[in-house]
Amino acid sequence: MTKPLLQPLVVNDPFDDPVLYLDFLFQKRALLFDLGDIRALPPRKILRISDIFISHTHMDHFADFDWLLRLVLRREKKIRLFGPPGFIDQLEHKLKAYSWNLVHNYDNNLAFIATELHPNAASRQALFRCQRAFSQEHQENNSDLSPGVLIAEPAFRVRTAILDHGIPCLGFTIEESQHINIWKNRLQALSLPVGPWLHDLKRAILTQQPDDTPIRIWRQENGKKYQKYLPLGLLKRQISRTSPGQKISYIVDIRYSRSNCQKIVELIQGSHLLFIETTFLHKDAEMAAEKQHLTARQAGWIAREAGVKKLVPINFSPRYSDRRQTLVTEAQEAFKN
Ligand SMILES: [Zn+2]
Repeated sequence: MTKPLLQPLVVNDPFDDPVLYLDFLFQKRALLFDLGDIRALPPRKILRISDIFISHTHMDHFADFDWLLRLVLRREKKIRLFGPPGFIDQLEHKLKAYSWNLVHNYDNNLAFIATELHPNAASRQALFRCQRAFSQEHQENNSDLSPGVLIAEPAFRVRTAILDHGIPCLGFTIEESQHINIWKNRLQALSLPVGPWLHDLKRAILTQQPDDTPIRIWRQENGKKYQKYLPLGLLKRQISRTSPGQKISYIVDIRYSRSNCQKIVELIQGSHLLFIETTFLHKDAEMAAEKQHLTARQAGWIAREAGVKKLVPINFSPRYSDRRQTLVTEAQEAFKN
């Protein structure tokens, strides 16, 4: 059983807004890359989102913040958002567009923690709390993360690079620290069930807990819960195998320039999966440059240079609505040859 921890989902058709949803296996948690049209995501999936990464604030990347806000408003929730320079003020403007005179009566604590990245490796942070009518509160950024690292947890980290799209635009990469495979046949041999407890096991392995740590193994059947405990060391030896973690990258809305290419290749090097815009056909490269986007061929070149394993083309210009396959083929040919 080798299902990776991170389950990617491209939310929309490539001719619609680019949105990448990364679901965590066995956790009620997900990451979201860009916040354009997210109506195709069922609310239960939106409610799992813990962190949102906004490449830039053109409408097709940020418009559905309002929809998200509406869904989470009465929830007990903290959501972190990351964006380019100026992002905190833009988020504040969005929140200021509504009247919040009744929210002090709400008994839930909804909060947004916004971080904006700056080219000098500095970042700015602000807090917006529902009970404070979403007024902007300065937050000291005490993180000791290296430049470009947005999140570092035992199971994974997220890094960014500030790219150029006429305005600053962020590219992202997510790296799983280790991939833990569970042998399904050995689970069966030991009469152990499949289920969310495997996530606790994986987390215990990733955080290097002592071998005698008891792991609770449980399952629910006909409304009844069965459980037992086994030591981590035994489970680790008998049913798991670790391998290098998965790396997933997301690149949209950038111009083809030497500086962008260098930064991207460095960021996404060796990705197992690259979601990258292939907005224009290469015969329209001039128009792509004018509009600060990549052609399919340029995207393929970048992926090849970065030693990516698999390229997934996204963010197609509507002008090619009848040439979907041509865009895909152009990108894949440049990538493979
Ligand atoms: Zn854009």
